[in-house]
Amino acid sequence: MAERRRDERDERGGRDAREDAQTVGEPWRRRVHAEEADAWDELVVTARRTVSDGLVVGTSGNVSVRVGDIVLVTPSGVRYDRLTPDDTVGVDLDGRQVLGTLLPTSELPMHLAVYRSTDAHAVVHTHAVHATAVSTLVPELPSVHYMSGALGGPVRVAPYATYGTEELAENMLHALADRSACLLQNHGTIAYGNSLDQAFDRTAQLEWMCRLWLTASSVPGLSPTLLSEEQVAEAGERLRGYGQRRG
Ligand SMILES: [Zn+2]
Repeated sequence: MAERRRDERDERGGRDAREDAQTVGEPWRRRVHAEEADAWDELVVTARRTVSDGLVVGTSGNVSVRVGDIVLVTPSGVRYDRLTPDDTVGVDLDGRQVLGTLLPTSELPMHLAVYRSTDAHAVVHTHAVHATAVSTLVPELPSVHYMSGALGGPVRVAPYATYGTEELAENMLHALADRSACLLQNHGTIAYGNSLDQAFDRTAQLEWMCRLWLTASSVPGLSPTLLSEEQVAEAGERLRGYGQRRG
């Protein structure tokens, strides 16, 4: 079955998509389990949504999902619309690759740091434009909307460090304390959740709030009213209690 899928992909010219992709030397470490295959399909759908919803340009973001002690993660340098089941990339919590031949995203240290430190089941990282713009302006997103309560409170900006480094992962963890999302200075967003949908939704909400603040604060002579920490916290409690009745 796997062979047949590879042949189909080659006929479609899928291999061209991998010209820029780096591969690791050893082939498949082991077979992909059924639960991992399902999670990979969902991961690919989520990664494509980050592009179609304008949160990611090209391959500038990355997505991961945890299945047991394995983290499935988007590979480095492969367009999401070209990803197939054969491209499944999996690492253990120490970053050792156990599935796939493509190289995991260079931002793997951030993803692993989140899984080691929280109960996250999924992580979404983007370079969304409004969020990244805000990350260059302030150390914390001003509380212009109560939806920051859904992310644990006012959203912090992690100080800049080179992408892909442990230093960036450490800065991110500090900014994520008691939060499910943060901004990365001059870089982008990271959010986690108990599912891919939740991590995606938090990313989209964060980008929307950043756009809201930029819009409100760009009116000459006026500055936006901000909510107090108590107001944000109260909204956060209601949002947790209300579940789907978000309003
Ligand atoms: Zn990045």
